[in-house]
This record gives sequence, C-alpha cells and structure tokens, in this order.
Amino acid sequence: MKFTELDLIDPVLSALKDKGYEEPTPIQEKSIPLVLDREDLLGVAQTGTGKTAAFSIPIIQLIHQFDGSHHRDAPLRCLIVTPTRELAIQIDENIRDYSKYTKTSHTVIFGGVKQHSQVQALKRGVQILVATPGRLLDLISQGYISLDDIKMFVLDEADRMLDMGFINDIKKLLKLLPADRQSLFFSATMPDNILQLSKTILDNPKKVEVTPKSSTAETIKQYVYYTNRVTKHSLLVHILKNEDIEQVLLFSRTKHGADRIVRNLKKSNIHSAAIHGNKSQNQRQKALKDFKNGNLRVLVATDIAARGIDIDKLRYVINYDIPNVPETYVHRIGRSGRAGEEGIALSISEPEENCFIRDVEKLINQSIEVVEGHPFPQTERPMTAAEKKEWNKEKQRRKQEFHANRKKSGNSRGRQYSRR
Ligand code: AMP
Repeated sequence: MKFTELDLIDPVLSALKDKGYEEPTPIQEKSIPLVLDREDLLGVAQTGTGKTAAFSIPIIQLIHQFDGSHHRDAPLRCLIVTPTRELAIQIDENIRDYSKYTKTSHTVIFGGVKQHSQVQALKRGVQILVATPGRLLDLISQGYISLDDIKMFVLDEADRMLDMGFINDIKKLLKLLPADRQSLFFSATMPDNILQLSKTILDNPKKVEVTPKSSTAETIKQYVYYTNRVTKHSLLVHILKNEDIEQVLLFSRTKHGADRIVRNLKKSNIHSAAIHGNKSQNQRQKALKDFKNGNLRVLVATDIAARGIDIDKLRYVINYDIPNVPETYVHRIGRSGRAGEEGIALSISEPEENCFIRDVEKLINQSIEVVEGHPFPQTERPMTAAEKKEWNKEKQRRKQEFHANRKKSGNSRGRQYSRR
C-alpha cells in the first residue's frame, strides 16, 4: 500500500515525500483511516513501529481541516502527553516535519529547563501541544494553558508513564479535559492496570495491535559474546574495531557504569558520550544531536535515558551488560532495525549474566547465536549460590572498610583545614 491510497491531503503527502516515506508501516496503515474517521484508538505498539506518524499525520490533517488558514487565532486543539523529555522533543520534531506545508502551529513543553521560552511559545498560540505531565500541569495551574477547546488527546507510552509514577498526574489531567473529545491511547504492553486506565480515557475504541507482546522484531539479528568480567572492556574495543559499526547505541545498567565506559573508550580514541539522569538536559540534548548528526560514534545510555530515543536507521545496539529483566532486553534491542531496517544486537555476557541470557531466550522463544573464536573467551564459570553469598558478604565488608577509611581521612583533613 502507498500513502497516496490513504485519503491524505496534498500538503501532508508532500511532506511525507520529502521525508522519503512511500509506504505506511502496518500501524500507520491501520490507524490513519480510523483517526481520520474520528474514532477513539487503543494502540498496542512499541517505538520503532512508526506509531508517532500513525497519530501525528491524521491529527495534522484534521486540524488543518478544522481551522484552515485561521491558525493564528485558533485555540489549542490537540494535546499529546508522553513520559520523557526526549520523546516529547522527538514527537514535536516529527510534527514539524509532517506539517511543514500546512499552517498548523505546535510546540513542546517539558521539565528540567526554565519555563520562559516555553511560555512565550504558548503565548503566540499553538494548535498542537506535546508535553510531559509535570510541566504540563504546572503551566496549566499558572494559567498559561487552557484545555477548553481540545478536540484530540493522545496518551503516548502509557505503560512507561505508569512505570515512571505519573498515574496521579494523568488522573488530574483527565479531570481537566473536555469530555467531548477524540482520544488515542498507545502502549507497548497491555497488562490489566493499563487496560483499566485506557477504559477511563477511551470511548468505544478501535483496537490496533502491531507487535505481539514480548516479541523481538524479526528484522533484528542477535549475537552474544561470552567473556569474563575483567575482559569486557577489551572485548568491546575489539568489537568496535569493526568499521561496519559506524554508530552504535550502547546500553549500560548503571549511570556510573555508563560514565566508566565513556572514560575507557576515550583511552582507545573512540568517541563516545553518555546520556543518563545525572546529565543536564543540555548535555543530553547535545549528545543526542551529535549522535544524530553522525558526529558521535557511540552513544552510551541507561535504560531510562534511552526510553523514547528515536534515531533514524540505527543498525547496531550493544548490551554491555545483560538485563536481569528479560523484557528490558527486548526494549533495548528494539532500538535497532526500526521501521523495516535491518538491525543487529550484540550482547556481552560475563559468567554471572549467562543465566540472564537463558531468561531472554525463553522469553523471545529463540536462541541467540553465540560468537565463537573472539580473543577474550569466557574462561571463568559462574559462581555457585554459596560463592555468591560469600562474595556479597565480602563486597559489603569492603564497602564498610572504604567508608570507614574515607571518614578517617576526611576527619584528619578537616582538622588540618581548621588549624589553618
Ligand atoms: P516511531 O515508532 O514513531 O518512533 O518511528 C520509528 C522510525 O521510523 C522513525 O525514525 C520514523 O522517522 C521512521 N518512519 C516512520 N514512518 C515511516 C514510514 N512510513 N516509512 C519509513 N520510515 C518511517
């Protein structure tokens, strides 16, 4: 099927042509006609399936049809709420691209930065607002946003929204929205609590589902390298010697781990940057921009920071550690092989993580191909339960010793300073 068969208006088709999109993805093919028919939608889809365009394109078209060229006086018509700043910015960028030949006005608001420029943009008048929940409620309470004329409401990534503790914000928001509206609800998974929430938002919705729960995209090739804990970094550098890996999104479980990887890669002259919760919004934006422009080879991200990152044609994902929750693995590798592109996911497993690989294989119901013959093979065996217990005790003891020593040296330094 082609976009031209979808009843879209010329300004939208021209914008899609500029992006080089010819065929709608399955979620787009199913959703666009339903949204144009003013149906409520319950969409089960992960990022990477093209869901942003699936809701943005018909919304832009409907707003263009409501308000025509009177956009300057038009009130806020559509509210799109999404859990992370990165995702909000990306949705707004997509809307900018798809609406470039219409006069639709839009803006994005999110927390963690000063509100002034966001308030200025709101004052100029917008028809489509993309927002994260906290900043949205804040600016509503300050009187900068009125939801009275909302015709369309989108709740994006509902499952992550709840994971991140936004349920009360969502409930507050629902009370402020006009009852007579069209609502679109998207979530990668649909457990009971999400389904219940959707029922409080949607009216007789049409269900659109593209990827079955917990399945890995078929277009992603997956490989695992077994190694020892101490050889992980050398193995990573060895893997990155492959020049086919022009750019890679690398996952680290912890923020400190992510920083350590960046420091170590620097020693091997490999350009990388980390994005995680301890970095400022500006640092995160810069790293993401450099990565998108091709000026950064390795983007190191924690799971939370990586949520909603949208990078065109990302081929490679590396798991520097194996998540103990197998669904996280599925989310991570879903960042490659987007919208029909072939993706490659490489995982590096140390002995203690071998069991997590087994869990992933059980979840995805397929075995992951093992890379043999690399220079840093796994020679150690996983600890037994008793050894692990012993090791945890030892770690605890070392930690206490470290803190005790730090306290001692801190105190003596304190005395030195007070003497001066
Ligand atoms: P999303 O699931 O919205 O994060 O989109 C995933 C990626 O696919 C984004 O990089 C989009 O720019 C891209 N994309 C969306 N729709 C299409 C399409 N019909 N053809 C090709 N690429 C697309």
